[in-house]
Amino acid sequence: LTAASGGGIVAYADSARAEEAPEPPPRKKKVVVLGTGWAGTSFLKNLDSSRYEVKVISPRNYFAFTPLLPSVTCGTVEARSVVEPIRRMFEKKGKDVAYYEAECFKIDPTKKAVHCRSAVGTNLDGNGDFMVDYDYLVVALGATVNTFNTPGVMEHCHFLKEVEDAQKIRKSVIDCFERASIPNISEEEKRKILHFVIIGGGPTGVEFAAELHDFLVEDLVKLYPAIEQFVKITIIQSGEHILNTFDQRIAVFAESKFQRDGIELSTGFRVIKVSDDSITVKCKSSGVETLVPYGMAVWSAGIGTRPVITDFMSQVGQGKRRALATNEWLRVPECDSVYAIGDCSSISQRKIMEDISTIFKVADKDNSGTLTLKEINDVLEDICDSNKESMVVNIEEFKKALSHVDSQVKTVPATAQVAAQQGYYLADCFNKKDHCIEHPEGPLRLTGSGEGHHNFRPFRYKHLGQFAPLGGEQAAAELPGDWVSMGHSTQWLWYSVYASKQVSWRTRVLVVSDWTRRFIFGRDSSR
Ligand code: FAD
Ligand code: MG
Ligand code: MG
Ligand code: MG
Ligand code: MG
Repeated sequence: LTAASGGGIVAYADSARAEEAPEPPPRKKKVVVLGTGWAGTSFLKNLDSSRYEVKVISPRNYFAFTPLLPSVTCGTVEARSVVEPIRRMFEKKGKDVAYYEAECFKIDPTKKAVHCRSAVGTNLDGNGDFMVDYDYLVVALGATVNTFNTPGVMEHCHFLKEVEDAQKIRKSVIDCFERASIPNISEEEKRKILHFVIIGGGPTGVEFAAELHDFLVEDLVKLYPAIEQFVKITIIQSGEHILNTFDQRIAVFAESKFQRDGIELSTGFRVIKVSDDSITVKCKSSGVETLVPYGMAVWSAGIGTRPVITDFMSQVGQGKRRALATNEWLRVPECDSVYAIGDCSSISQRKIMEDISTIFKVADKDNSGTLTLKEINDVLEDICDSNKESMVVNIEEFKKALSHVDSQVKTVPATAQVAAQQGYYLADCFNKKDHCIEHPEGPLRLTGSGEGHHNFRPFRYKHLGQFAPLGGEQAAAELPGDWVSMGHSTQWLWYSVYASKQVSWRTRVLVVSDWTRRFIFGRDSSR
């Protein structure tokens, strides 16, 4: 309400002065967007950029369609086909949107500015540093890999987060096959070189294992028949099951398919160290440690916080958290005009347990700090709107019921689906901001949340389901309404959904023609 009435006063002052001299149009508010991943581009695509001066900062001048990265690791899809140039996405927005290829290394909420470092050019100071100020900041920096400080992981494992990672994995797989084909190599050495280990049995690790298996049986065994027998793929998972964020039926289906394929599942093992040729794993139940020789390892066991986010969190007093906390309107509560979306952030839902004290205060009409039975009755009558004879109130049960509701409020997962919906939601809020300031009591005032100018409904995530491609032209899908589907037809559903989800017709054509090429000619196995 405060922001809304403040806006009203400004508008009044403007109209008074307008009689004297023609007023230049008011300065457009500056919106700075950090990151061009799922969250950032979804925000930018939906933002009405004629209302704002928009500046976009990201070290990569393209958007990457991450769900297809596992396919890039084996050449099923080419790297070029899964990226869309950022400048192309903003083409239609004209000069209202500026893009700087740089990395933000510090957010300064008191000066309302971000400090950036360009990877390419140098300025007069001899480095590539510059500062950009903002009226509104949208933080969409995503997450980084998390090694949980396991020794050797950074040095020896591959990751699967960026396009470059997928390209490196592809080279490395072929590399292992060529190395194992050199004469005078012992069988034991061949087995080691051709042992591909995936650490982490989440959707990314599982999809990569499936891709790799297909690549081996469909293409590589024909090209390297002499060493086929030495190839092995292992998934190491610390939990009891792979794909544990999916429906149990999907996990069971995936596990039995992998067993038939000969992909080894080491569940209940934790990786404690990685050296250049072996991985030390510890059995969680027995505590016994074993050395696993390997040729190539991919670490896909969780996401971590980017240093610039960690630094920002400590500045605003969120020191101990894993992700930047926002309210349900995606604003960082400690700062005036900083918003955070996607994997770098998490929404802290209002706790119902905290609301109990509000209910208590409302009920305590005489401000005595205690409630009489009549007061309790009155307020419960108000809340429940039901008759008192049939209602028995037990405050402990009441609390228990409320805390149960609390625990049912799920945090949203770190997925592209969430990031894109948050970007869309926030752009919508930005597009309607002016309207709300001009018409504080207007039809857009939907909730009256007391959140300053947030006259909008809070963000609500709509889960549209998830896929797990399992290789051999089979996939599993979990769709809303407890609908699970598995097998070959689901793979066709996957093809059509992922073709339709492409951000442009250009990438759609590229991806579909890559799939077609693969069906006809197989994958390219050159380095
Ligand atoms: P990102 O998409 O990671 O974007 C972050 C952006 O910030 C990037 O443009 C980056 O270059 C930029 N950036 C980084 N550091 C800086 C800096 N210092 N300054 C400025 N800019 C910076 N989700 C699904 O829903 N379905 C899937 O099938 C799926 N498959 C996946 C497969 C793989 C291999 C991976 C890695 C992820 C997958 N995900 C999937 C998850 C999904 O990709 C993420 O949840 C999503 O990318 C999060 O979006 P974001 O915008 O928060 O972060
Ligand atoms: Mg982003
Ligand atoms: Mg992305
Ligand atoms: Mg998030
Ligand atoms: Mg009282």
